[in-house]
This record gives sequence, structure tokens and C-alpha cells, in this order.
Amino acid sequence: MKRHKNKQRIIKMTTRKKVHTYVRVKPTDEFAYEMITFGEDNKSIDIHIKKDSRRGIINNQQTDWSFKLDGVLHDASQDCVYDTVAKEVVAQALDGYNGTIMCYGQTGAGKTYTMTGTTENYKHRGILPRALQQVFRMIEERPTHSITVRVSYLEICNEALFDLLSTLPYVGNSDTPMSIVESPQGIFVKGLSVHMTGREEDAFSLLFEGETNRIIASHTMNKNSSRSHCIFTIYIEAHSRSLSDEKYITSKINLVDLAGSERVGKTGSEGQILKEATYINKSLSFLEQAIIALGDRRREHVPFRQCKLTHALKDSLGGNCNMVIVANIYGDATQLDETLSSLRFASRMKLITTEPSINEKYDAERMVKNLEKELILLKQELAIHDSLANRAMVTYDPMDEIQIAEINSQVRRYLDGSLDEIDIINLRQIQEVFNQFRVILSQQEEEVEASLRRKYTLINKNDFATITAVNKAGLVDVEGNTVGETDGQGFGLGVAPFSAKPGKKGKFKKTFRDITGASTKKEGLLSPASAKDVDSLSTSRSQLLSSSKEADVKDAPSHDREASSSEPVVSDSPKEDSHTTRPGTPPPKPSAFEEFKNERGSEINRIFKQNKTILNDRRKKASETAQRINSIKKEIDSTKEALDVQKTFREEQGEYENKGLMIIDEEEFLLILKLKELKKQYRGEYQDLRDLKAEIQYCQHLVDQCRQRLLTEFDIWYKESFLIHEDVQAPLKAKGSIRLGLLPLSKLTSLAEDDEDKFGQIQTSVLPDCPDSVPFYNARMKLDQKQNYSKTMASFQNKKPGSIPSVLKEKSPSDYNLR
Ligand code: ADP
Ligand code: MG
Repeated sequence: MKRHKNKQRIIKMTTRKKVHTYVRVKPTDEFAYEMITFGEDNKSIDIHIKKDSRRGIINNQQTDWSFKLDGVLHDASQDCVYDTVAKEVVAQALDGYNGTIMCYGQTGAGKTYTMTGTTENYKHRGILPRALQQVFRMIEERPTHSITVRVSYLEICNEALFDLLSTLPYVGNSDTPMSIVESPQGIFVKGLSVHMTGREEDAFSLLFEGETNRIIASHTMNKNSSRSHCIFTIYIEAHSRSLSDEKYITSKINLVDLAGSERVGKTGSEGQILKEATYINKSLSFLEQAIIALGDRRREHVPFRQCKLTHALKDSLGGNCNMVIVANIYGDATQLDETLSSLRFASRMKLITTEPSINEKYDAERMVKNLEKELILLKQELAIHDSLANRAMVTYDPMDEIQIAEINSQVRRYLDGSLDEIDIINLRQIQEVFNQFRVILSQQEEEVEASLRRKYTLINKNDFATITAVNKAGLVDVEGNTVGETDGQGFGLGVAPFSAKPGKKGKFKKTFRDITGASTKKEGLLSPASAKDVDSLSTSRSQLLSSSKEADVKDAPSHDREASSSEPVVSDSPKEDSHTTRPGTPPPKPSAFEEFKNERGSEINRIFKQNKTILNDRRKKASETAQRINSIKKEIDSTKEALDVQKTFREEQGEYENKGLMIIDEEEFLLILKLKELKKQYRGEYQDLRDLKAEIQYCQHLVDQCRQRLLTEFDIWYKESFLIHEDVQAPLKAKGSIRLGLLPLSKLTSLAEDDEDKFGQIQTSVLPDCPDSVPFYNARMKLDQKQNYSKTMASFQNKKPGSIPSVLKEKSPSDYNLR
């Protein structure tokens, strides 16, 4: 049997079929006419036996049976038997349906005659040679298909497997001990020779060879042929001659000559005969069980492996194949017992339904070839299409590393805004663009997390145990604020305010140097509170804590050390002089932040503080209201209790009624009034609390936004004041009102050499599309920045203290007055 590596598909037919059963009666001179009668439609057989008078008067012996089958073959020629039993099954095998024909019955009833027939007389040839003939005839009728035929002949005797064609030369490995093997492609007998036959004549030779071997074996090996099952299999594989059709079908026809079904003991069998008979009866009853299980849709397990016969026929029994059973019986009265038993078997089989299906497979090699052809054709189509659409330069091959790197850079430029859009070229490119988005996104996520981890200890919000521990350690208060936050009092604890007006750099810088100088002398001069203020600003509530201040404070001394080790040399030249006004290294951020709040950021800081004061005030009020609500609630409860007491007392005393009205005493009346009043108060306070909560939420939002604004402005200011060289600032400032602090530092640091051309070059690299567009983008960027900045600052400055900055107000859906 050939094993296919190709994909297999079984196409289910919607129609269910029954197992076809026929009975063939062996001609005899002593036909028991009074006992066996046939129905007129030739589809039923009735058995009638006379009551056994020896059984006495009370005799419940059954005497009549009627069996309905698909056909009764009485006095039927081999021709007729073939046409009735096998023709359709064989024809369907060429369309891809597996078929199995079995002869069942007691020894001598004509199974072998029906299946093989006589090899001497052509006229008496049986189903086997006729099936081979039909197959080859049909192949001739189908020139559109290339159909191959193979055959094998297996004998199962006492649960041992024999290859009846082993005497023929065979290319396969026929020396291996035979075994039944299940594979994804189906079941096959390992070691069984399967012979290809191109012609009818060759097929017959194979059959005769097998028959001869069967007879020889029965003599030399004392292997009674009536005690063995013989399975002749015809394997068909049909490929379309049209190469475009990659589907092909496979099927097999199993022609089974079963061992005699007679029951043991009847003829007083003993020893070896008894053992054989036991095997036979067992395998036949397993065969019956398997077929019944196959016909039962609810049965999940079919016991195929109980014996070799059913195992070898696993994919050819019932189920999805066409199945025919011929019960061979004697017509003699003496054999009536076995005849009845065979008829019973046949009628049980008749009830079984099968669902024949085509075994369709795909020729992988053909499929690949066809797909390759299709691909070439489509590529040509695409080329034509592209040249018509003026897209001749577009290629569709998979991208190489350089192309992928280019896309990655495009996406990066797109993300940082230096590239306005990514041109769509083809599907592959679109997919790669998305892919690179994912790559960059995950890289950035990692970077952000890594930098957060470097700076902070991250605590999982859901990790309550850790949060509690941190709370206990005093690192964070109940509300999630960092310890040391002045809560409502704003920032700047312990730092003397600057007298310098915002914007006066010279003065400021001097002051700044003083501060850095001081911290050089005394490490950790910064008050913890002021350092923490920066933390509390940049830290979202209850998310992360404490170690940021370590990082910042640690940073500070290291900067300071650098500063002290490289004291700037004072020079006479005005340019150099201006250098000396700036510290050699930027000051630590916490102290710079203090300055910022007092200087440039004072207005934002003031608003921030005011908002925070309002927030705290509302919080306090809310908590007071909550307390009041609680005490009212308590009072309500106690009043209710007192009322209950009164009521119970009244009920115990007996109630007074006057014209249908309940009379209650004054005390109870007052209690009811009190309760009513308390409830009114309760509702009022409750409403207040709800309003306060809404207000708190809104204030919180404002405070957060102010915080953010303060930090952003601080960052810009810090960069402008300390990180961007003055020499760079001066010429660029002269060019317009651009805020340098907004630009990425990396783009500006190289400007230290006061080189305007360089700035132009950098912008060229930032705007790679075309250098001509630089002035255009430049102008637009400046305009945007200018507008944004003046709008923001104006809104801060024009507002009265405590009122909401217009930028924030714009974002608020309702006009909310904090005052
Ligand atoms: P089984 O295989 O069931 O044991 P066989 O097929 O060997 O029985 O039949 C036993 C004998 O009866 C053989 O000699 C066979 O030729 C003969 N025989 C059986 N059925 C018929 C039939 N329908 N017509 C003529 N001879 C038959
Ligand atoms: Mg036989």
C-alpha cells in the first residue's frame, strides 16, 4: 500500500446508505422447498420448520422466520451475481469511494465460489476477476485520467498474517514481519507486497498466483482454507491528466472471502480444529461488533483492534465506504441451523447505515508548481498595471535589512514630527511600517520603564501589602502625598525669596552661583522638603515614592564636585566674563527649582498654591460635613429608637382612636417632628457633601495641571538658563522669539560654537524631506511656539488670583468657580 504524505480530504456525501446484503443459495438437488421460500420481490426469504414432535405437547419452539434483504440470489449465474452485488461498488471506486464486498457463511456454502469462482472455467469466474476486468474497462473509458491499479492479497489465519503474493518479485520490503500499522494516511499492512498492474492480464496472473499459494499453503502448512480469511485488495489512484488539477482521488476495493462461520462443537471439533474455530468465531463476532459500532453515530469508539481482520479492514468497513455482504447458504434441510445463523447475521448487517465519501487528496508537488505559475502570471500582470499607472519603479520583493532600516528611520522621523507623512508604496511596505511602529513602541516602553526604574522605586498600585509597608515607614501619608509636602502651603520651605525680577539674567546667575557655591561647601544643604517638592510635583499620587529625592540629591553633590574641581578662570575679555557668570556645571535641579519658583515661575507657583489652598479648604469642609452627617445620622437613629419605645408603649396601653384618627401623646408627636427635621438636615448636608466632592475632584485636577505646567516651564527655563550655551542663545534669539528650551537638547548642544550655519544644518536633518522646506517649517514652528507661549503667559497673568487660568478653563466642560 502506498503511503501518501499529501493532504487528504474526505468529502462527505449527504445521503446515507445501508449496508447491502444479499443471500446466495448454493444449488442442490435436495433443496428444502417446504422449509425455504422466497418472497416474490426476491428480497425476502422465509424459513419454516416443522415442530419437533419429540419436544412434547408444551412446545414453544419457534418455527417461522422471515428475513428481509437486498436481494436473494437463487439459481443465479456468476454473471448475475456480479451485476447485482459488485458492479456498482466497483464503478464507484473509480470515483473515489472505498468499497468492501464480503462473503459470509458456513464452509462449503459457496463463498470462495462466489468470490473467486473457478479458475479453470472463464464462465464460472467469480467477483474478483470480474472486478479487475471492470476496473480496466473503466480506465479505458477515462482517457482524461491517469489511473494506476495495484493489488495485494492477504490471508489471515489464526490471527497470523500471510502474504499470498509473497512468491512474486517485489521491490518493497517484503521480508519484514507483517503487522498492521495505522498512519495519518490510513491503515496499511506493513510487509504486505502491493503489486502494480498495468493490464488486465497481469492482474489475473496475480490473482491466480495468490489462489495457487492459498491452495499450496493449505496442504503444506496444514492451513485449512476454510479456516482463514482472505482479503484481495484493489488500490486505485486517479490523477487528472490536466496538470492544473492538483486534486486526485484514491480508493480501494476489498474483496473478502471470510472463514467458515459454522459454530464450534457442532462436528465434535477438538484440539487444533477447536482452537481455530474459536479464533474464527471470535473474529467474525468482532467483525459484526465493529460494523454495528460503525453504523451507530453515537458510538465514539469502534473496536477495530480486537482482531486482525477488523484492524486490517479498519478504513474499509461500514463507515464511509460502500459495503456489501453476501450470505452464502445451503438449500439443504440438514444445514438449516447454520443457514438461519447466516441469515440472522445478514439481516443484522442490513440495518447498518454507512456514509460513503470520496477520498480526495492534493498533489503537493502539482500544487506548488501551479502556484508558482500563478505567481509568475500575477507578477507580470502587476508589472503591466504598474507601468500603466506610472509606478514602474515599485518592486514587490521581500525587503532587505537596509530597506527595513530605512522604514524604521522614516517611522522615527514621523513620530518626532520631522516627517509629515509616510508615502504608501505597496502592501509589504505598509506592513513593515506598522511592524516598525511596534518595534519602536516597545523600545520606547522599555526605555521609559528603565529610566523610571533608575530614578524611582516603582510600586505596583495593586500591591497593597507594599503600599501599606511604605505607609508605615512614613514615606507616604494616607492620601498618597510624599512626607514633607507642605500641603496647601506650596513650595519653597526654607528658601529665601529672590529679590531679582524675573528675566534679569545677570542678577539671577550670580545668585545661582552663590547657591551652587554654598552647596559645594556643604553637601546635602538642600532641605529635604524642598527636594521633595520637586518629587511631589513630578510624582503622580501614590504611584511612586521617595527614591527620586535620593537620585536628585545624589546628583547634586556630584555636579558640585565637578564644579569645584574646575573653578572657572576669570578673564578680562568680555566674552569670557560672561562665561563666568554661568556656573561651569548646571546647578542641582532641586535648588534651581526653588529659584525658579521665586523668579520666572513665581506667577504659576502662586496660582498653584492658591489652587492648592482652595483644594485643602474644600477637603477640610468636606470632612467637617461628613462629620456632621455622621452625628445627624446618630441622632436620627436615637430618635427612631425613642419613637419605637413610645409606639410600643402606646400599643401595650391600648390605642385611642377618634374619628378614625390615631391619638398620640405630645412626647411622641415632638419626636416625630424632630425626626422630620433631622432628616431634612441630613438631606441638606448630604447634598453639600456631594457638591464638595465634585469640587474637590475638580480642584485636584486643576492642582495637577498647575503642577505639570510649573514643571514644564521649569524644565524649559532650566535648559535655557543652564544647559544651552549663551553663545548659542544670543544669535538665535536675535533671529526670532523661538524658545530654545522647547527644542531637544541634543539638537542644540552642538551649537555651542556659535555657528548659525550649523543650526540650519541641524534643522535640515530634522526636516529631511527637502532642504527647501526648512525656512517654511522654521517660520511656522516659531509662530506656533510664540502663539502658544504668549497665550499661556497672558492667561496666567491676566487672571485674578485664585481664578482659573483660561487654558485650563478651556478644557473644563463647566464653568466652575473655585471661590
Ligand atoms: P466455501 O468457500 O464457502 O467453503 P466453496 O466456494 O469452496 O465454499 O464451495 C464448495 C463447493 O461448492 C465448490 O466445489 C464449489 O464449486 C461449489 N459451489 C458453491 N457454490 C456454487 C454455485 N453457486 N454453483 C456451482 N457450484 C457451487
Ligand atoms: Mg472457501
